[in-house]
Amino acid sequence: MDKCRSQDNLARCNCTWEPCSRKGICCECLAYHWRSRELPACFFPDPVEKTYDRSLGRFISIYKDK
Ligand code: SF4
Repeated sequence: MDKCRSQDNLARCNCTWEPCSRKGICCECLAYHWRSRELPACFFPDPVEKTYDRSLGRFISIYKDK
């Protein structure tokens, strides 16, 4: 089993929600948000991430024409 690359992940993480125990542990982050049909912070541009709206609807509204 590969080791978690949480330090590398943290370097790329744009999440501004503090504190969060899942930060850098992407598998937990994804599972946590997907339970509520949301997506992790890194799926959103920084200005949207800061609103903490991680809903599928917001994601689709951003990317539907891309
Ligand atoms: S996106 Fe959500 S679960 Fe992931 S680090 Fe940020 S607050 Fe935590």
